[in-house]
Amino acid sequence: MDLSVITTYRCNSRCSMCNIWKHPTHPDYEIDIETLRKLPDGFDYVNVTGGEPTLRQDLLEICGTLYPKAKTLEISTNGLRGSVLEKVVRKYPDIKIRISVDGVGETNDTVRGERGGFEKKVEAMKRLIAAGGTDLGFATTFQDENIDEVADLYRMAEGLKVEFATSALHNAFQFHKNDNYIYDRVRVAKRVEGLVTDMLRSSSVKTWFRAYMNLGLIAKILGQDRLHPCTQGTDSVFIDPWGDVYACNVRNDLLMGNLRLQTWEEIYHGLVAENVRAQVANCPQNCWMVSSAKTAIRNKHVAKLPKLAVLQWVLWNKLRVTLGRPIDFDRYIDYSDVRRDKRVVQRRSYLTKPDKKQLQPAESRRYVQVGEFFNR
Ligand code: SF4
Repeated sequence: MDLSVITTYRCNSRCSMCNIWKHPTHPDYEIDIETLRKLPDGFDYVNVTGGEPTLRQDLLEICGTLYPKAKTLEISTNGLRGSVLEKVVRKYPDIKIRISVDGVGETNDTVRGERGGFEKKVEAMKRLIAAGGTDLGFATTFQDENIDEVADLYRMAEGLKVEFATSALHNAFQFHKNDNYIYDRVRVAKRVEGLVTDMLRSSSVKTWFRAYMNLGLIAKILGQDRLHPCTQGTDSVFIDPWGDVYACNVRNDLLMGNLRLQTWEEIYHGLVAENVRAQVANCPQNCWMVSSAKTAIRNKHVAKLPKLAVLQWVLWNKLRVTLGRPIDFDRYIDYSDVRRDKRVVQRRSYLTKPDKKQLQPAESRRYVQVGEFFNR
């Protein structure tokens, strides 16, 4: 199974689609090494995330603790602190590093509230390549503001011979946001079609399957049902900076336990977890995030392999693209079925309009719910 460890809610970006940075945790109360040691070995994949994980002074120690417990250890980062990442990559060259980039140049900087952010990210990536990193990549969140630049970002990743991961704008309690809606769903979805085709042209098998994940994102962007049921709480969980274990980072009512106070076995095999999984099975949120989509397309029997239907889609459409024929998107996506939102508010850039942050109470594990939201 997969695990995401939210190591901190401190962040040095000011993203328009995430307010984590406004609610930083106090470093003295963030999840410690002793608690992380309680995790068992044998995870397929562990993601060290945040906030911004490079702000943790003990990041190398965190990696040292989690590296032996996972087949793949990832750091999800904004890439603004390249020197910190370089130290990690020099020690663990096969660690997976994904640097968030949300547009080319000024677009990235405006969306993410990062002055000179785009240049710093590209520089950090080149530094990690030179340091010998073997699993490097960029990660982009599709939104109206950057969708016209996604093809360029993909080409930039290809040019540097690194991976390109994608997701789409969504709401989550963790982000303290409920206005992350796409303004023009059809326009954004149509642009993703081009990326799907580009990805199937790649010679990398991994990228072909990423094309399928992007097909799922098209459905998600249009507000349609997810392609496969969510298996959060079973195949993937989140741990927050206070050690609280959640099925996902979207719903704060899916709390399974606390790793500081309980053992992993008590949490994962307990009655509370069972109840949470029942709620996941009937969850109306309909997300298609990397964590929940990646596990959902896996084969039930062999985690390394995809579901048969996914494999068939990939092989069939790879063949079409290779023969120079277009992908018949209308066969998979119903463009007459588009969710209309009552509430679509223009998000502002914190690069030009600063806002204050407020330290989260030291021991508080209460998330302030900013209002109702639906991820459809
Ligand atoms: S579909 Fe529901 S359970 Fe699954 S990630 Fe989204 S909110 Fe969480």
